[in-house]
Amino acid sequence: MSMALNVTCNKHGKTPAVFTCEHVFQTIEDKIPRGVNWFMDDTGDYQAFCDTCWTTPPADDEPGPRMVCTHCLETAAAHNGLSLAI
Ligand SMILES: [Zn+2]
Ligand SMILES: [Zn+2]
Repeated sequence: MSMALNVTCNKHGKTPAVFTCEHVFQTIEDKIPRGVNWFMDDTGDYQAFCDTCWTTPPADDEPGPRMVCTHCLETAAAHNGLSLAI
């Protein structure tokens, strides 16, 4: 059963939430590519991590996952030259 949450984005309105690391979130803001690697977790939510976090999961004292809009994640993927359509 999906526990999917929604977020209300300033640009895109209400969309399903995607959980990202701090760095993917930064890419949405500053357009600097850091890699985007995504998967759907077992609750039906998408999660996305930069290349660094994907290969080396952050330590406990790193900033926690960010909840972002689906379309903002697509934007971050585009900054990395990737095509993501959820
Ligand atoms: Zn990261
Ligand atoms: Zn958005």
